Amino acid sequence: MPKLNFQQKSFEHAKLGNLCSDAISEKLSRPETPLRAVQTRNPYISPKQVSKRWNVLDNEDAKRQLFDSKTEQDMDAYQKNIENFIGTAKMPIGLVGPMRVNGLFANDDFYLPLATTEAALVASYNRGAQLISEAGGASAMLVSEAVLRTPGFCFDTLAQAGQFVAWAVTRYDDFKAVAQKTTRHGKLIDISVNIEANNVYLIFEFTTGDASGQNMVTIATNEVYNYILDHSPITPKYAYVEANLSGDKKATAQSLRNVRGKKVSVEIIIPAELVKKRLHTSVDSMVNYCRLSATGGVLSGSIGVHGHYANGLAALYIACGQDAACVAESAVGITRLEKTDEGALYASVTMPNLMVGTVGGGTSLPSQKACLDIVGLAGEGNAKALAEVTATLCLAGELSIIGALSAGHFSRAHHKLARHK
Ligand code: NAP
Repeated sequence: MPKLNFQQKSFEHAKLGNLCSDAISEKLSRPETPLRAVQTRNPYISPKQVSKRWNVLDNEDAKRQLFDSKTEQDMDAYQKNIENFIGTAKMPIGLVGPMRVNGLFANDDFYLPLATTEAALVASYNRGAQLISEAGGASAMLVSEAVLRTPGFCFDTLAQAGQFVAWAVTRYDDFKAVAQKTTRHGKLIDISVNIEANNVYLIFEFTTGDASGQNMVTIATNEVYNYILDHSPITPKYAYVEANLSGDKKATAQSLRNVRGKKVSVEIIIPAELVKKRLHTSVDSMVNYCRLSATGGVLSGSIGVHGHYANGLAALYIACGQDAACVAESAVGITRLEKTDEGALYASVTMPNLMVGTVGGGTSLPSQKACLDIVGLAGEGNAKALAEVTATLCLAGELSIIGALSAGHFSRAHHKLARHK
C-alpha cells in the first residue's frame, strides 16, 4: 500500500490510497443483484398511483410524515407542479419583519415568511429588517426587466452563418407576431444576435407580466424557433431551442451587467448611533470589512461581490413558491457600504437577476400561496413589488452579517442559536 503524504494529497485521494486496486474495481463494477422494485410509470397524481409508490417504498414511518391527511386532502392541487408525487415536506417557517420598503412598487411594512432548516438565518435577517425599519425604511427601485431564451444554430461555414443572420434580422416583426400568439402577458421586447464563427445565437428578451416566466419564454421561443426552421433560406446543420446563452440557473457575468428576471437597486442611510445600538459596531468597522471582503471576492473570482444573498433568497423562494433553483442566478449582485460625509452608514444592494413571480409556477400551491398572502403580494399586479421586497430582504441580510463580522459576533450567534438553544 502506498504511503501518503497528507500535506500533498487531498483527503479523497488519501482514501483511495487506502484501497488496493482490486477493491477499487470491485466497488465500481456492475453488481449481479436485481434492480429494486420499479415504481409506477404513470407520473400523475391519483390515490391509486400514490398508493402504488408507497407500496414500492414499503416505509410506513416515512409515509406518516410525508403523506399526512392534509396532504392527501390537497393532493390534486400539486398536479401541475410535480411528477411521481408521494407527499409534502414540512419546512419550519420563521417570520421576519416588519421591514419597511419605500419602493417604486413596494411601499409598505412587510412581514416575510422564510422557510429554512438553518438556525440563526431568520434571526439574522430579522435583525437587519428591524434596523432598516428603524432607519425609516430602504429605498428600492426596480430598474429593468427581461427573461432570455437563446436558441442556437450551427452552419457549415461562417458565410452561411452570415447569410442566416442577414435573413433573420429582416424577420423580427414575424418573430414577435409568432411569439405573441402563445401568451397574453409575455412580450418579446428585444432580439439580438451573437455570431461565433459558424455558430449563431439568437437572443430573445421577454417581459413576463407577473410570472417569473421561464415556461412562458420557453413556449414562446419554441414557436419562433420552429418558424425559423420552417422558413430559413439556409438550413442549419443542427439547432437547439436553448443554447445556454440565457444564463438560466447559473451565475453569469453577462447578467451581472444586464438583467435576467428583474433588476433591483436598494439603498439605505443609517445613522452611526443606530449602527452602534443595533449592530454593536461602528460605521468605520463595517466599511473596512466591506473593503476587505470586496477584494476577497475578487480574489475568489466571484461574479459580483456580496455576503450571502443565497441564504435569504433560498428561504424566501421556498416559502413563496418561487423556483428555488433560480437562487443560482439570483444570488449575484453588488453590496456596497460607505461612510457618508455626516458619518452615517450608506449601504446598497443591486441584484440584476431576481427571478420572482406572483402568478404561475408554484405560487398558487396551498402553503406557498399562504406565504405570499402573509407578504401581501399574492396574485396579479404584485411581481414588481415582490422583486423590490426580495432585494430589500437581501440588504437586511447583508447589514446583519457584516454587522456580526464587524462586531466579532459571527460565530457567537450560530453557536448560541444552533447548539445551545
Ligand atoms: P407558468 O405557470 O408556466 O405560466 C404563467 C401562466 O400564468 C401563463 O399561463 C400565463 O398566461 C398566466 N397568467 C395569468 N395572469 C398572468 C399575469 N398577470 N402575468 C403573467 N402571467 C399570467 O409560469 P412561468 O413563470 O412561465 O414558469 C415558471 C415555472 O417554470 C417555474 O415553476 C420554473 O420552475 C419553471 N421552469 C421552466 C423552465 C423551462 O424552460 N420551461 C426552465 C426553468 C424553470 P399567458 O401566458 O397567456 O399570459
